[in-house]
Amino acid sequence: MKPVFSIPQTPFIKVTGKDCIYPVKRIFCVGRNYVEHALELGNEVDRKQPFYFTKSSSSLLGPETDLIYPPMTDSLHHEVELVVAIGKSLHNANKGDLEKSIYGYACGLDMTRRDLQNVAKKQGKPWDMAKDFDGSAIIGSITESEQVPAIQSANLKLFLNDQLQQIGKISDMIYSVDEILLDLSKYTKLVPGDLIMTGTPAGVSPVKVGDRLIVQIEGLKDLTLKVLEK
Ligand code: MN
Repeated sequence: MKPVFSIPQTPFIKVTGKDCIYPVKRIFCVGRNYVEHALELGNEVDRKQPFYFTKSSSSLLGPETDLIYPPMTDSLHHEVELVVAIGKSLHNANKGDLEKSIYGYACGLDMTRRDLQNVAKKQGKPWDMAKDFDGSAIIGSITESEQVPAIQSANLKLFLNDQLQQIGKISDMIYSVDEILLDLSKYTKLVPGDLIMTGTPAGVSPVKVGDRLIVQIEGLKDLTLKVLEK
């Protein structure tokens, strides 16, 4: 049967240094995964259980694309994050299954309508409209895992108009990448094409039209963009 309309091409991300693309299926995000960030937003630190929210693959904004300031917010925050790209199916995984399960890593920004999120938090409502909108998942090119063996000891940095605004260590995550994979694979079968945004360190702040953002994670390709008018 013929489709009644055509749908856009599967979103994808370039692979660093290769003539390849990584097709994107789903985007999972980890909340409150750095102590100082949980505290700066007035949240408790929970070491018992990670929690997740999701972004649509259509919210993806690739490298070399600027962000158009989204509607319905006056407080659009940046959250610099390490992005993990799944390379092998994981379901109810145990430690032995994790080998070669990560295709690669990328620099990411979990853009957040903080004003909407604060209201939703207070009212016990879902975060979707605060987290999942066009351009809210900004992800740089994916570098294959074997190119970055020291990723777990890397720093992540966010420069806002050339000022260092966020800095953190991947080793300071409350739940490590391995722990996230083991836990998340209990809830869903992770498959190649799935991305995980692993949480942000302290220093989140609002951006405005005209701002320039640079994300740096050691070993990965920088992510650079501007915020454009609505
Ligand atoms: Mn985040």
